[in-house]
Amino acid sequence: MKAPGDSRRRILLLFFLGIGAPSLLLGYLALRGIQNDLALVEQERRNEHRLLSGRIVESLEGQIEGVERSLEGVTDGRNESDPPFSRLLNEFRREAPAVEAAFVLRGDGTVRVLSPPPLFSDHVGQASGGSPNLSAESGELERGRVLELRDGDFRGALQAYRAVLAASADRRVQGEALAAIARVQAKAGASGRAIEAYRRLISEFGELRMARGYPLGVVGRLELSTALLSVGDTIAAQQTWLDLHRGLLRGDWSLTRSEFDFFTARLRESVDAALSGEIASASQAAYRDTLASLAGEETAGRLRTEEHLEFEELASRALSGRLDAAVSRPGSPWTRVSLDAGSRTYSVSVRRSGDGAPSAETPLLGVLFDQGAMIGNVLTPTLAAHATPGAVSWVVRGRDGESILASEEPPNGLVTATASLASDFLPWTLELYRPESRFVETFLTSRRGVYFYAFLLLTGILVFGLTLTARSVTHQLELARMKSDFVSTVSHEFKSPLTAIRQMAEMLQSERVRDDEQRRRYYDVLVEQSERLSTLVDNVLDLARIDEGRYELERIPVDVGELLAEIVERVEHRVHHEGFTIRSEIEDRAPVLNLDATAITQATTNLIDNGVKYSGDSREVVVRGASRNGHFVISVEDFGIGLADEERAKVFERFYRGGSELTRNVKGTGLGLTLVKEIAEAHGGSVAVESEPGSGSIFSIHVPIEAVTEEDHG
Ligand code: ADP
Repeated sequence: MKAPGDSRRRILLLFFLGIGAPSLLLGYLALRGIQNDLALVEQERRNEHRLLSGRIVESLEGQIEGVERSLEGVTDGRNESDPPFSRLLNEFRREAPAVEAAFVLRGDGTVRVLSPPPLFSDHVGQASGGSPNLSAESGELERGRVLELRDGDFRGALQAYRAVLAASADRRVQGEALAAIARVQAKAGASGRAIEAYRRLISEFGELRMARGYPLGVVGRLELSTALLSVGDTIAAQQTWLDLHRGLLRGDWSLTRSEFDFFTARLRESVDAALSGEIASASQAAYRDTLASLAGEETAGRLRTEEHLEFEELASRALSGRLDAAVSRPGSPWTRVSLDAGSRTYSVSVRRSGDGAPSAETPLLGVLFDQGAMIGNVLTPTLAAHATPGAVSWVVRGRDGESILASEEPPNGLVTATASLASDFLPWTLELYRPESRFVETFLTSRRGVYFYAFLLLTGILVFGLTLTARSVTHQLELARMKSDFVSTVSHEFKSPLTAIRQMAEMLQSERVRDDEQRRRYYDVLVEQSERLSTLVDNVLDLARIDEGRYELERIPVDVGELLAEIVERVEHRVHHEGFTIRSEIEDRAPVLNLDATAITQATTNLIDNGVKYSGDSREVVVRGASRNGHFVISVEDFGIGLADEERAKVFERFYRGGSELTRNVKGTGLGLTLVKEIAEAHGGSVAVESEPGSGSIFSIHVPIEAVTEEDHG
């Protein structure tokens, strides 16, 4: 016969081969399927992100193109020398917030920023238009100057100047003459007339330059303010200064750096001189505010102008060469390049003319993009419009990989797509990210998650099935083992009393008995062994009947006190020759109960027999009978080997036998207590056990006390 461990292993192996292995294979395939699916999702997402980044680049390109086209629209058909040209550029620039400056690239390769107008430049004589041609009228003007400065003949000088003003057709000569007239009138004390003349000079000839190169508009205003002060009109003088300062800040006169410094210094002197004498008033406070804000504007304007001069210098050196090398974009006359100046990168776009080369007549137009404004006004809204928050996170990196703009959700995880923005001309790269945690989330909640859950469920069922099988197999094997144990124990149990009986019977038969005393002892043994045999047979038969459902109680009214006394006496008689005392403590007025006397006798005998069997070194057993809480409790106490906690729970199970060395030395079938329990329950009662290893046990049967009628008793 196979060892139970072997069959168990075999069954589990079969289970594994038949169900486990195919399921595992299935699970593996499912897992691979899910992985493939995930890869597909990932690929999909990458494609999506690539498209998305494409759309963002496209939109950005579109907006830059829009700027270029709007500049074309503003300036087409005009050339630089048109007076309103730089005004048009200013308007264009105000409309296009991402534009830092509009410039021209001349035929000689020089670059000039036209808008915003520079406060000054380092290029001397650029807009002065050269000295006026004074040849024809110079004689007359010179004559006036001699009369005015050498002779002090203001009247004569005025006449001479007026003649020039009336006769000359050259506006510059006229301007010069008018300036002289105003100056003489001021000297002569005719302040009112002088003021009038200066006003006319400013409005009619303001944009011209004098022979010495000073712009009439600037000089005229400075002189006008002096004249106004001399007549005590401080307010008008202040207005004139503000007017002059604004003009200087607008770049009205194309000044050189030294001219700008000179005039602003002069202006400040005059303003300061007038201020020190002034008494504060409400209008003066407003005037001071205006002064302060103009001073601020001037500082900013100087800074900006310096920057643009730097740009001009760099672009003049580098731009033409770069234009030749730059790849032009099909369908657009604009070429975009980025100029690297070390500290910053200029993003510029230049419009090529028909043949591409700039000439003196038609310089090339260019736009310098403001990267900061580009980020704030173009890039940010574009990204906000395209990249849905939550679905995608992104970062825009600068030339050195530094992050210059990022989505609200911090980008982490894997980069799904990168794109260089606006074809390299802006030094930025866009990176799109797949948000890591969200991805798993979406996977679990998406329809693909079903596979995952199905897989989990399958695994769960398998594990559950495997555990159940293992448990049931173990249980069955255990039962089989116990049954086979039982068969061998029972045969053994039968064998020893039978052998004893036979020996005694043979001795008696052969009359080899010494005396009556010995004969009586033999009879005792015969009785004892046959009783043991019959108890054993009763136990086995009753349990078999219980199993088959044929077990029925025959209840009759029984005086339990008497019954217990009989049982004790009988067992005592059987075991006293081994030195055992069975003490009984039965309550005096024990009730009469409806019981199956045979069954209760058997159960109690089993308990007492156990007490004797597992008594160890002690030789005493106590049998008690008492009413308690509506039950009659029959308990048997011994002072023997006792039971461990884990055994106590199992002793009533069928075929269970204690595992300790002490128990194994005692013969038994593992059926006695099972039958006790069945009998107690058949009477509507229960069993209980209290025990302590080494100090003994108390087993008890609790039978409910029911009223016994007279009839029953009878
Ligand atoms: P058996 O006595 O034939 O083995 P039982 O069903 O009567 O079968 O008892 C089951 C097990 O309970 C015993 O093997 C023994 O380990 C334990 N047992 C029963 N009665 C006692 C007792 N009075 N003291 C200690 N152990 C006991």
